[in-house]
Amino acid sequence: MTTKNIRNFSIIAHIDHGKSTLADRLIEYTGTLSSREMEAQVLDQMDLERERGITIKAQAVRLDYIAQDGETYMLNLIDTPGHVDFTYEVSRSLAACEGALLVVDAAQGIEAQTLANVYLALENNLEIIPVINKIDLPSADPEKVKQEIEEVIGLDTSDAVLASAKTGIGIAGILEAIVKKVPPPKGAIDEPLSALIFDSHFDAYKGVIAYVRVMNGRIKPGMKLKMMATDKKFEVTEVGIFKPSLATIAELGTGQVGFVAGSIKNVKDVRVGDTITDAEHPAAAALPGYRKINPMVYCGLYPVDSADYDNLKDALEKLQLNDAALLFEPETSIALGFGFRCGFLGLLHMDVIQERLEREYNLSLITTAPSVIYRVYRTDGHMLEIDNPSKLPPPTEIDHIDEPYVKATVIVPNEFVGAVMELSQEKRGEFKDMKYLDTTRVMITYHLPLSEIIYDYFDRLKSSTRGYASLDYELTGYHTSSLVKLDILLNGDPVDALSVIVHRDKAAYRGRQLAEKLKSIIPKQMFEIPIQAAVGNKVIARETVRAMRKDVLAKCYGGDISRKRKLLEKQKEGKKRMKQVGSVEIPQEAFMAILKID
Ligand code: GDP
Ligand code: MG
Repeated sequence: MTTKNIRNFSIIAHIDHGKSTLADRLIEYTGTLSSREMEAQVLDQMDLERERGITIKAQAVRLDYIAQDGETYMLNLIDTPGHVDFTYEVSRSLAACEGALLVVDAAQGIEAQTLANVYLALENNLEIIPVINKIDLPSADPEKVKQEIEEVIGLDTSDAVLASAKTGIGIAGILEAIVKKVPPPKGAIDEPLSALIFDSHFDAYKGVIAYVRVMNGRIKPGMKLKMMATDKKFEVTEVGIFKPSLATIAELGTGQVGFVAGSIKNVKDVRVGDTITDAEHPAAAALPGYRKINPMVYCGLYPVDSADYDNLKDALEKLQLNDAALLFEPETSIALGFGFRCGFLGLLHMDVIQERLEREYNLSLITTAPSVIYRVYRTDGHMLEIDNPSKLPPPTEIDHIDEPYVKATVIVPNEFVGAVMELSQEKRGEFKDMKYLDTTRVMITYHLPLSEIIYDYFDRLKSSTRGYASLDYELTGYHTSSLVKLDILLNGDPVDALSVIVHRDKAAYRGRQLAEKLKSIIPKQMFEIPIQAAVGNKVIARETVRAMRKDVLAKCYGGDISRKRKLLEKQKEGKKRMKQVGSVEIPQEAFMAILKID
């Protein structure tokens, strides 16, 4: 097929505006899957994605569509993850396309991630087709949403498609709009090969496979190829397309989207954003936009049962095969023993990995509170990057500390402006800008420390705006802050895994809150446990967990064995996530307590 009849597009939307549902409808309408094969949100393949209703990995599908002009078109739909943690993946998926459907919920209007995604699409010069979705809802107001899109984004909405991905209204119109408005791919089949990697995946049968968009040239089995950023070479054994399961074809031509499998050993060699070229006749230059992705959030992962250390290592290695953004290295904690320091793109990524380790690998884990990367400038002139608070050098060796900052964009109904500002101020934010989207909604911009965002900014933003606020943020750089290490002592011994880095002005308050919270979390034991919070040698808060009075079994009188057993089982269940630290048993929640205060 010539490139004339190829259309490569993405769907961009704020979370829950209907991207996955719309993808389902397009797949169904074009007969790509029979109704028997269809299950809701076929592109969200991971169980976790279905359960949480979010897209974690980008996926692609090829749709064959006979348009009103009578011609058959090859439409490649590339789904993008909707969450802020995965911005880089979104941007690479968009770079593989010529157009994007911009889905906006007709009842809700533009949200923070609608804008973030539109900016990415504009940066990639995509033709954007506005789709006003959920027009079946009684509260839908498509005219108002159109106006918002015109005013805030500056897109012409006279041809916007009004749709309901739920009922199927507008689906035919969307397909026609893709054919008519999205330009066919450029590029030439006789040029040296250049193909953009927009995703990768480890397949149990085929090994590592790269998801690519061919920009110039073609890929066929037997070719010797090279990854331009890593300089890794491999021989192609198979190429194919997404239907949406993998289907082998003879060759991937210019403009096409598909997969390449071959003698690639490690998913880490296949980096999203990299260019694949012919090893013997390489392209003159790599495609633009490749960037190494660096995790922003780190935490410690420790097996509850230290005998599980090797299993945890195996599991992390396996997960990493599918997820090049996951980093880990061995670390030891005096309190928790042997474990791993892991780096993630953000909190959701961290959550997802943790959950997969527990579910798919049956591990019981202790996770320490997430930390950003601090840049610690020592008095001797050296700079250290610290991702673990317990590694902070003593105060006398520190000249100053820089921490990462983000530009946060919040969209809310105007009645909540006060609440957002109060919260952002409290989180050490610096007000930047405020703009009315329409008569009822406002967009507020703040500069905030990333550490405050990962603490509880988003949760509190949601609760103080009754769920109406949407948030997007991007890293802007590092700034010097007055930061100190807050240590926690149990029974007089510092517990390294409970140390956190906090702003000096908040140390006393956070110390008191944390001690109080720990008191409520750490169960009574046979003896009294003093809890102290300290900065340096100075104790700033003290609480005590009183000794246990009664045996739990004392409540069961007589011989009610089954009840006794139940209680014991319940106790055992509760114990699973306990870690013996010195003489004290500490439950998992204690390590996350810092996230639950304020
Ligand atoms: P995504 O996060 O953008 O992928 O959104 P989903 O496709 O998962 O949809 C979010 C929710 O909105 C789901 O409960 C869908 O059933 C619902 N939804 C999607 N499209 C429509 C629509 O056109 N009308 C209505 N009423 N609900 C919709
Ligand atoms: Mg989705």
